[in-house]
Amino acid sequence: MDKRKALKYAVVLLSAAVLFLCSCGIRPGGRTENAAETAVSTAETETEKETEKETAAETETQTEAETETAAETEKETETETETETETETEMENAFYSMELDEELKDRIRGRSYKDDCTVPFEDLRYLHVLHKDIEGNVHEGELICNKRIAADLLEILQELYENDYPIEKMRLVDEYDAVDEASAADNNSSSFNFRFVSYTTHISKHGYGLAIDINPLYNPYTKMVNGERSVEPANGVPYLDRDKEFPYKITRDDLCCRLFLEHGFNWGGDWENSKDYQHFEMPSSVVKSLYPD
Ligand SMILES: [Zn+2]
Repeated sequence: MDKRKALKYAVVLLSAAVLFLCSCGIRPGGRTENAAETAVSTAETETEKETEKETAAETETQTEAETETAAETEKETETETETETETETEMENAFYSMELDEELKDRIRGRSYKDDCTVPFEDLRYLHVLHKDIEGNVHEGELICNKRIAADLLEILQELYENDYPIEKMRLVDEYDAVDEASAADNNSSSFNFRFVSYTTHISKHGYGLAIDINPLYNPYTKMVNGERSVEPANGVPYLDRDKEFPYKITRDDLCCRLFLEHGFNWGGDWENSKDYQHFEMPSSVVKSLYPD
């Protein structure tokens, strides 16, 4: 083969090769372009992935936030429930009744529990309560009453306390040597005191612990005796005029009177032959059913 022929073959071969390569889409620099596209596509995928990750992270954060909020709400609910329970427990701790233990018996023996007392100790209950004076100061109160009205008195006194109904003092009458006049003159509210109804030989309902006097100084007992007005306590005279306004005055439509009437008590302010504005008692039928003699 001569040189010329060989050159011709080489040109033909080269042309064929170029054509082949072109038909396959492979161009000079093509590989680089494809790599770039792949790179861009990878980058896009990565960005997408990152975005997804971020979204996932955000969702996670949101979920965490939601969980925290839920936890906080739960905590708040718990706190509220705890507060309610605490208040209930506080009230249960403050308003309770119990049988008289030896210490209490010693406190009242020979005083309100006279030697000739016909009511057995077992029939009496000691009550511990809270009460507020007219300025809203909270005081601890003590009371001894018949077990028949213990639950009623606890309910009534708790409701009066919660409604800020003022009661000035509530100590055992024994702290006044069981002298009713001294206790009433000091505006002390009390229940059990074995004694007789003034000017009679009947056992007073206080003698059974089935009556209670509330704020007695401002709500005195009054009766005409031999044409003369008797007032107990004696220093309660200024409060006989029930049209006057003064603190601790019991009226028929006030909360104190309404609660006692609702619990089956009678009010001394309703009596006709005498007035005992401080006094709430169980009806005589109840006394007779408990103490037939
Ligand atoms: Zn009374």
